[in-house]
Amino acid sequence: MNKIFDVIVLGGGPAGILASISAAKENKKVLLIEKLNNIAAKLKATGGGKCNLTNTLSTEEFMAKFGKNGRFMSEALNNFNADDLRKFFNSIGVETIARDGFRVFPINHSSSIILSSLNDELKRLNVEIKTAVHINEINKDNEVFYLKSENETYNSNNVILATGGLGYPVLGATGDGYTYAKNFGHKVTDTHPAMMPLFTKEKNFAACKADTIAKAILKVDIPKYKKLKLTGDLIFTKEGLRGPVILDFAREITPILAKYNEVPLLINFLKGKNEEDIYKHIKNQISKNPEANILQILETLLASSVANQILNICDIEPNLRFKQIEGIKREKLVKTLAWTPFTITGHDGFRNAMITRGGVDLKQIDPKTMQSKLIDGLYFCGEIVNIDGPCGGYNLQWSFSSGFLAGKLRK
Ligand SMILES: Cc1cc2nc3c(=O)[nH]c(=O)nc-3n(C[C@H](O)[C@H](O)[C@H](O)COP(=O)(O)OP(=O)(O)OC[C@H]3O[C@@H](n4cnc5c(N)ncnc54)[C@H](O)[C@@H]3O)c2cc1C
Repeated sequence: MNKIFDVIVLGGGPAGILASISAAKENKKVLLIEKLNNIAAKLKATGGGKCNLTNTLSTEEFMAKFGKNGRFMSEALNNFNADDLRKFFNSIGVETIARDGFRVFPINHSSSIILSSLNDELKRLNVEIKTAVHINEINKDNEVFYLKSENETYNSNNVILATGGLGYPVLGATGDGYTYAKNFGHKVTDTHPAMMPLFTKEKNFAACKADTIAKAILKVDIPKYKKLKLTGDLIFTKEGLRGPVILDFAREITPILAKYNEVPLLINFLKGKNEEDIYKHIKNQISKNPEANILQILETLLASSVANQILNICDIEPNLRFKQIEGIKREKLVKTLAWTPFTITGHDGFRNAMITRGGVDLKQIDPKTMQSKLIDGLYFCGEIVNIDGPCGGYNLQWSFSSGFLAGKLRK
């Protein structure tokens, strides 16, 4: 019979790497299996190649950003929080910094140093690594797990599934772990792509591609979801919207889109100015410059390209003075300036989704250990489970923390 490992970690992303390091530090014999030619392909691409590892929030604030599933992370974060993560990276030669006081990056702003240091640490701890091995099947018989690739079977007493979700499949994750989890009787929730640009019905704003809107406020215009509101920077594209606020909002939108096919949004481009503030602003501008046309007035509030599109929506000639505009159109203009309507019609699917919403059901995983409640010796960590956070180092911290905890193993 083949050699038996204490643990086989399947998936060489951040979760699997930390799980391997953590298990090796517990003196376990570890095999890390990765189907791509190199480990950590996605980690290398994170943060635009700069790797936003974590952030400076307290554990409580951090968990709150994950919504109702956030508390599941409590044990993992108590074992390995943002400070522990930074200390760990420091101990392997990666100094980190939060230049904006919030987002933590390696000090040289390059993910390459993260990768080389993690590789060195895996080597130092004698973790065996097999790359370019695609596991197709996992079984358990008489307390031993059998992981089968096309050419070989690998045996172990424990298995840690760290195969990621479905986003950015070119970087490895294609949902294999969900199949293994299901085969062991685990429930997997519906999955949705998250953190990617969104398509809108309105294409006219493509003309505003060059202008970033700072601190745009977005809300869903469906009564049931009226609490969904987010503020952040927004960019227009040929097909719709992108930018940090859209990446974060997409997490909320895609499940609603799957239900309704279209999602009406209202966007405030004016840092929260309401109709009354807008009227006041217009009057104020007119008193300063009575000859100003409506476009010139709006240009004191918005980029010219956006102002033009809003006038277009309201069917108003840009060279008219405010007084010359019909009352009904004036009202429409002020309303539209306060909340410009958009309709989300779709997205690119998982192809450009940075993370996956949904995954292995948390009810069947023990948060104190990350072990399956159904199968002894089976563990989960990282994006494979039903946890996803916003942009800002949340998802990597979760992957590292859950990997660290899973690697502690319970036998
Ligand atoms: C472009 C991009 C930028 C991002 N930037 C950030 C950021 O700056 N900060 C942040 O916090 N998050 C960021 N994220 C999200 C973050 O990268 C993920 O949350 C994180 O990588 C998940 O880690 P993981 O180890 O669970 O899964 P993954 O990193 O997806 O790793 C899973 C690994 O398992 C392997 N695998 C899958 N199936 C098998 C199989 N059957 N056999 C063997 N191996 C298998 C895959 O090849 C893959 O290498 C970004 C994501 C993307 C796509």
